[in-house]
Amino acid sequence: MDCIFCKIINKEIPSTIVYEDESVIAFKDLNPVAPVHILVVPKKHISALREVQEEDITLLGKVLYTCKEIAKSLPECDGGYRVINNCGDNAGQTVKHIHFHIIGGKNMPNLI
Ligand code: AMP
Ligand code: ZN
Repeated sequence: MDCIFCKIINKEIPSTIVYEDESVIAFKDLNPVAPVHILVVPKKHISALREVQEEDITLLGKVLYTCKEIAKSLPECDGGYRVINNCGDNAGQTVKHIHFHIIGGKNMPNLI
């Protein structure tokens, strides 16, 4: 499968990994939009949030918990941070392997 995040998971292309276990990986975004910009990704290839199945509930909970644990470890996130999932073309999803952005280290205006 031609998926850039699966290639990162399989160590076929390099990335700056900040966390990894048997089911989740987190690495620095190549084009950061803030001092902290980390992508948290389940190792299972799921193309988008709208493709998540009931069997993935525990995995997705773990991904979100991992976002919190990573942010907790970063002083830049002490003042707050944002966790973002882009789902589908209208939301600007460019990589079709579900992922959550941790954005922090700067003040951000409300989107909604
Ligand atoms: P999204 O627009 O939500 O699909 O976000 C995809 C993100 O993946 C973008 O912020 C890209 O900068 C990032 N990205 C793409 N390729 C890589 C890569 N090889 N390593 C790290 N981040 C990447
Ligand atoms: Zn993938």
